[in-house]
Amino acid sequence: MSKENDKKHMTYNVLPGPVMGLVTPEYLEQVAAIAKRHSIPFLKLTGAQRIAIAGHSADTAIRIWQEMGLAQGPSRPVGIHYIQACPGEKWCKYGNKDSIAMGKKIEGTLMDIPLPAKTKVGISGCAMNCCECYIRDIGIFGMKKGWTLVFGGNGGGAPRLGDVVEKGLSDDEVITLTKKCLDFYVQNAKKMERTGRLMRRKSIDDLKLFLSGE
Ligand code: SF4
Repeated sequence: MSKENDKKHMTYNVLPGPVMGLVTPEYLEQVAAIAKRHSIPFLKLTGAQRIAIAGHSADTAIRIWQEMGLAQGPSRPVGIHYIQACPGEKWCKYGNKDSIAMGKKIEGTLMDIPLPAKTKVGISGCAMNCCECYIRDIGIFGMKKGWTLVFGGNGGGAPRLGDVVEKGLSDDEVITLTKKCLDFYVQNAKKMERTGRLMRRKSIDDLKLFLSGE
């Protein structure tokens, strides 16, 4: 293999987690040991609050998955791609709500639903929105009177601010309403169409009509 090809094929990344950027010292030690064993040039903290073990070959990627105890890598269907959450009221003095706990609820209830395209979730504990809820497919941020749910945001090549679906929600209402928004997404989006593009074709009124069940 030429030097150039060699370089080209050393571009595999393993993203074994964590969810919402929560790591234990033991997890960090495990990742560091694996990185040293495989002479990984660097670890990357990604925008999705994960640790990428980057810059290696396909064969090494398989070995790393096995060493992490995760076999061949994630096998979930296309759906919620990641959940970002800020420290929230537990660890931030500005927090109105527990964003980490909400992230765990979303992970436990909605993570495995098949969706038309990858779907990103941002959860913030207050209106300062450190997890950028307005540019996530699903954005949830905490106000004193309850959670605000935002749908259809995108921060990529076709940026779009999401629409506010509802304010003043309880934890359970967030889960129920988010599930309904995802139902709307499944029923109306084309294959591989992100929520932002869908909401350019449809309007927030279409979504609200759907949510009202009329
Ligand atoms: S969004 Fe609010 S609660 Fe969360 S880290 Fe930022 S300032 Fe703190």
